[in-house]
Parts: sequence; structure tokens; C-alpha cells
Amino acid sequence: MTNYNFSAGPGVLPTPVLTKIKNEFIKNEFTHMSIIEISHRSTQFEEIINSAEERLRDLMNISDDYGVAFIQGGGSTQFEMLPLNFANNKNRIAVLDSGNFASKAAQAAVNIGKQATILDSSKMDHYHHLPMLSTDFNADEYDYLHLTTNNTIEGATYHQSFLPKTAGRLTADMSSNILAEPYDVNDFDAIFAGAQKNLGPAGVTVAIVKKDWLKEQNIENVGSMLRYQNYLDKHSMYNTPPVFSIYALNLVLEWVQEQGGVDSMYAQNIEKSSKLYDYLDNSTFYHALVDESARSLTNVVFTTADLERDQAIAKDATKEGLFNLSGHRSVGGFRASLYNAQPIEAVDALITFLKKAENNYK
Ligand SMILES: *Cc1c(COP(=O)(O)O)cnc(C)c1O
Repeated sequence: MTNYNFSAGPGVLPTPVLTKIKNEFIKNEFTHMSIIEISHRSTQFEEIINSAEERLRDLMNISDDYGVAFIQGGGSTQFEMLPLNFANNKNRIAVLDSGNFASKAAQAAVNIGKQATILDSSKMDHYHHLPMLSTDFNADEYDYLHLTTNNTIEGATYHQSFLPKTAGRLTADMSSNILAEPYDVNDFDAIFAGAQKNLGPAGVTVAIVKKDWLKEQNIENVGSMLRYQNYLDKHSMYNTPPVFSIYALNLVLEWVQEQGGVDSMYAQNIEKSSKLYDYLDNSTFYHALVDESARSLTNVVFTTADLERDQAIAKDATKEGLFNLSGHRSVGGFRASLYNAQPIEAVDALITFLKKAENNYK
């Protein structure tokens, strides 16, 4: 029996990458020691971190106008770093409340003494559709607009063609769909993504920030560990970076390049998710509730409309080698995460199982 991991995060990683990590772990052929035992100042590690940055720049077409930083602390630290570094003029950010992580970002800004205005929220609709910018949005009142491109828990996504059009600055939390579908980096002033959804293990977060915007900021009161500029000046090595996570990230990025890059991942992710959504839409037993145009490619959320039954079915699934299908504790139901490393065979196995479960529980 083949096992499949549908975890939302930390999520599934490519098998060739895991194999390589395993094979090189005790004794790397270049370092003669394991990656977690060598200095981050060594030429070997420097090559790894430089390679990771180059590969990310290549995969996302990141121009020299942007700096790339590797930071610890996860997406949640970015919820604080973004306003600390960039909400210094109006001291106010705008947020489209498209899900739990958008709402947390707004709260984090308030916690560090800034103001956060929720422009629109889809909370009353359980985040099944996307909140949008109204035509009278005045960007001048805010330092930037904070967007969550993919809402990991609720399963709604601002795909590239649905990004809000603002005359002001736009920042994006891409934690759960970076490299899963194409985005034009030039549409954003800052992007961040915790690695553990689609890029690698937990422990490293990627930040892509516009250099000019950073230069405009007066951030004397922000500590060095929380300044993007410091990461850019020191190539993310002001202090010891998370060496293992960056090493694994580099291998995942290499794997994505070998697969043909973001366009190829996107085509595969469309194929995988469409197959599952089509099945759900044709079923009277399961329901995918997110608006069709906003449906996530990476986190497919659905339910039988009976949360206890959902739980029982998700439990049965583990006996068939289909793991981590339960929805987030705040929403229940099912969530099948189909990140880049998830093979289409996982979707086929899931659909076969769901049909069987329908017969058992109907
Ligand atoms: C997981 C996630 C976060 C939180 O990341 P942590 O690394 O756990 O702090 C933030 N935003 C999104 C969209 C996520 O999926």
C-alpha cells in the first residue's frame, strides 16, 4: 500500500529530495561532515545559501529591485516584521480579511502598536469567497495593503488575475502557494512565505522585499534581528541561519527547476486539483464550498455537511494510507493539501477512497 500525506503544513516534500537528504546526511561528499555540523561561514554553506537565492530568483523571475532574505520565526514573525519595517509613515495598514491568517496579520500589526483597517471580510461566509477592494479605496491612507494569496485553512485563493488593483503598496503572504502557481513579483512590494508548506522544512521563511521601499523607511527603533535591511546587508547571515532548512530548501528549489519550474508545477497543480474538484462537484455526498473562481490549487477544502461523519471518514482514510485529511480544527471537514510534491496518484487514491466511503456512510 502506498501512503499519501495530505498535511497542510509541514507538508509533503518530494521523495527524491528526502532520499538525497538521507543519503548525504551523515557524511556529505563535499563537507565530509553532516550539514548540521559545519559553520554557516564555511564556503560549503555559502555556496548552498547563494544557490538557494539564485534558484528562487530564477523560478520567480525576481529582479535586482528586490532583495531576498532567509529568516527564522515563520510566517507569524513576518506578521510583525512587515508592519515594523513598512508601516512607519501612516502607521496604518489595510487588510483584506480572507481567512484566519489574514486576520492574524491584522492583529499582529495592532499588537506592535500600529493600526490595521479591515477593508472587507468574508468571515460571515466562512471565508468561502474573497473579500475585494472597493472602488473608493484610498491607498494614501495606508502604508500598504496586506494580502494572503492562499488561505491555507479555508481554501480560497487570490489567483494572479484576481489580485486587487491598488495604486499603493501591496504585500503578500504566499506561505501556502508560493511556486504552486504563477505570480508576477513586480505586482508586489514585499512577499513572504514560511517554507514548511510548499518549499521545505519548517525553520526558514523566505522574504522578498523591494529595496527602494526599504530605503524610504525610518526604523531606528527596530532591533537588528527584525530589520529586513540587516538580512540583505549580511546575506541572511547576521547571526546563525537555519542551516539545515536552507540546505533542504535549496534541494526543493532544484527539484522544482528540474520539473520545469513554476509553469510546469502550475499545470500539474491545475490537473490534480481539477480532478478532485470535478469529483466533488459531481457528487451529492461531498461539497466543496469555496467560490469556483477562488478555489485553492493547494488546499482543497470540502465536507459531507456532517462534521462527525467527516471525522469518521478521515479516520478510516488513515487505514488506507491516506493521512492528514481532517480540516483545520477551526473549520472541521476535510482538507486535502495538494502541494507541488503531491503526485497525481495521491488524488486518484483519494477519489477511490471517497467513493468507497460514500457507499459506507450514505
Ligand atoms: C502556515 C501559515 C502561516 C503561519 O506560519 P508559521 O510559520 O506557523 O508562523 C501564515 N500564513 C499562511 C498563509 C500560512 O499558511
